[in-house]
Amino acid sequence: MRVEEGVLLSRFTTIGTGGAARAFARPGTLAELEEALRWAAERGLAVNAIGLGSNLLVADEGVDALVVKLGGDLAAVEARGGLLAAGGGAPNAVALHRARAAGLGGFEFACAIPGTAGGGVWMNAGAYGRDWSDVLVRALVVTADGSGWLTPAELGLSYRHSELRHGQVVAQVEYRLESRPVVEVRAAVADLNARRKAAQPTTKRTFGSVWKNPQGGAGAGRLLEECGLKGHRIGGAVVSPKHANFIENAGGATTADCLALMAESRRRARERFGVELEHEVVFLGGIDLPRA
Ligand SMILES: Cc1cc2nc3c(=O)[nH]c(=O)nc-3n(C[C@H](O)[C@H](O)[C@H](O)COP(=O)(O)OP(=O)(O)OC[C@H]3O[C@@H](n4cnc5c(N)ncnc54)[C@H](O)[C@@H]3O)c2cc1C
Repeated sequence: MRVEEGVLLSRFTTIGTGGAARAFARPGTLAELEEALRWAAERGLAVNAIGLGSNLLVADEGVDALVVKLGGDLAAVEARGGLLAAGGGAPNAVALHRARAAGLGGFEFACAIPGTAGGGVWMNAGAYGRDWSDVLVRALVVTADGSGWLTPAELGLSYRHSELRHGQVVAQVEYRLESRPVVEVRAAVADLNARRKAAQPTTKRTFGSVWKNPQGGAGAGRLLEECGLKGHRIGGAVVSPKHANFIENAGGATTADCLALMAESRRRARERFGVELEHEVVFLGGIDLPRA
């Protein structure tokens, strides 16, 4: 298992910002992952797993940790009866493709979530009224001290939340799906993709929803739109003119630009609506959301 230094994480985030990792490894097997975690523990280094970087803001100054990105066997997907077994690094698109080919349905909601199985568990990602907790049977969580299979209840899955902490790496998952004809899965995915395309900036570089939706009221996007934030720009980052809960990289954006936009958005939502927005995007590295 090779550990690289100075790998720029902007290559691995969908928004395209972020500095270098102190150390970077791409374990392809469970043994390689365990070796990487031991390597970090021996040096007292923190560990951050990343998936497809689709919900990440990485500090411009970089991350003082071993960053692991799962590949090989740990990104493979296989259907076993009504179960879909996926590596923690398996892209959702691949899992959905394998499910459809095996005549399995129930994972269609993830068609427009451009992340991995591990990232889905971390965030209990979801869309259209379903989330990971609806399909996940168990996840194999590996740390420097050992590994174990955890159920959704043991993972503490709730709205865009799990109890996972950095250093715990989701290496495998099992999804329970149901029999569904291929044509039905295809039609459901086409419908969801069309709805998504109409409402969100799907062709721009973003990190998905910036903020969690506040409980029991208008969504974060609607609140920010009413604050006049659509199109508001700081440096290379702009609040999406299509959906105010997205920040687009309009060219040369930095993480600092995104954070400044977030601080301004949060300030306006607080002043106008008395709502304290909570960010959905995950921060890696020494990031503090400035209080505006
Ligand atoms: C255009 C767009 C649309 C989106 N739509 C949605 C949506 O509808 N619903 C939704 O919920 N999200 C959405 N997202 C956000 C994002 O795709 C999801 O949160 C996704 O689950 C993140 O997965 P990832 O693999 O990219 O994780 P990353 O962004 O790489 O990481 C996110 C978090 O997961 C952790 N993590 C990643 N892999 C592992 C692992 N193997 N083990 C342990 N921890 C891990 C990271 O440490 C980090 O804390 C969208 C994003 C974009 C860009």
